[in-house]
Amino acid sequence: MNSGEHTAVRENPVAKPVDMHVHIVGNGTGGTGCWLRVGALHRPLATLMLQQAGLPRGAMKGDLDRLYVDRLLEMARGSSLGAVVILAQELVHDEQGRAIKEAGSFYVPNDYVLKLAREHAEFLPAVSIHPARPDALEELERCLRAGAVMMKCLPNCQNINCADRRFTGFWERMAEAKLPLLAHTGGEHTLPVVRREFADPRILRLPLECGVTVIAAHCGTKSGLSDPEYFEVFAEMTRRYPNLYGDTSAFNVPIRGRHVPECLREPLVGRMIHGSDFPVPVHGHFAWMKGFVDWKTFRRWEGQPNILERDYQLKLAMGFPAETFTRIERLLRPVDCRPARS
Ligand SMILES: [Zn+2]
Repeated sequence: MNSGEHTAVRENPVAKPVDMHVHIVGNGTGGTGCWLRVGALHRPLATLMLQQAGLPRGAMKGDLDRLYVDRLLEMARGSSLGAVVILAQELVHDEQGRAIKEAGSFYVPNDYVLKLAREHAEFLPAVSIHPARPDALEELERCLRAGAVMMKCLPNCQNINCADRRFTGFWERMAEAKLPLLAHTGGEHTLPVVRREFADPRILRLPLECGVTVIAAHCGTKSGLSDPEYFEVFAEMTRRYPNLYGDTSAFNVPIRGRHVPECLREPLVGRMIHGSDFPVPVHGHFAWMKGFVDWKTFRRWEGQPNILERDYQLKLAMGFPAETFTRIERLLRPVDCRPARS
């Protein structure tokens, strides 16, 4: 990357809310390097997901990459948000760090999210690197130079044993670079799971002890009735690790949102960070049935077609304080470490 072409430093959108858990999806049209493999069983669900996000019918087979980014930009600009953190998606790897190409259901290269973030001020780039890759540290350095603000991984879906001592150097470098880790915790049903036991937040103790700021996506909550529940484990760990946070992503789908009342109370409320998990659907029915929002609020925001805004407004109405939506700004890799932007 030619760093000489960047001249101005991004303005710190400190006062504006940030959605720090937004997926990029693509089928590779336009040479983005993305791929998407949806089996016959999951196709209706995926189509529905994209439609409720506001994408045209047939987008999955068409120019999905451009349509998706255009829609996401439109939603970010038309919302109360100052920025969204867009996530790369690493391949599944084995313990030796070899990519298992036939596993996983989608892939989003680091270069693609880095490029999108250079082109659009609304986007902040989160890269995704399997620490067992032989070139993991090189890739980390390359992404740091290119302006990565966060690292995203799904230990249970990508086969990442974060507790593996071989990764100590990788976590230490992330801590030194102040690059936070967003790690999926709890059950998962939209993606194939390869190691169920890696949904347990306890595997994050090693990066935490290396000094990495860790954000447990979904706070360890379960997404299916048969999943083990790790919310209590997560809550307990926040007492021990001051550098552990949890995000509210997918709290507007049934079951995951069950623990909202605990998340709104001290001391957990000070560790909560706003994320939507877009394009995961956002619906207020569960929050209304549980009494987290009243009927009028539910009706009002359920009619909002911009689901980034719908998710933000429903969480505000549930009582998440303003800091929940801006806290991420001081946890992301500091602005002065990122390359200046043109
Ligand atoms: Zn997610």
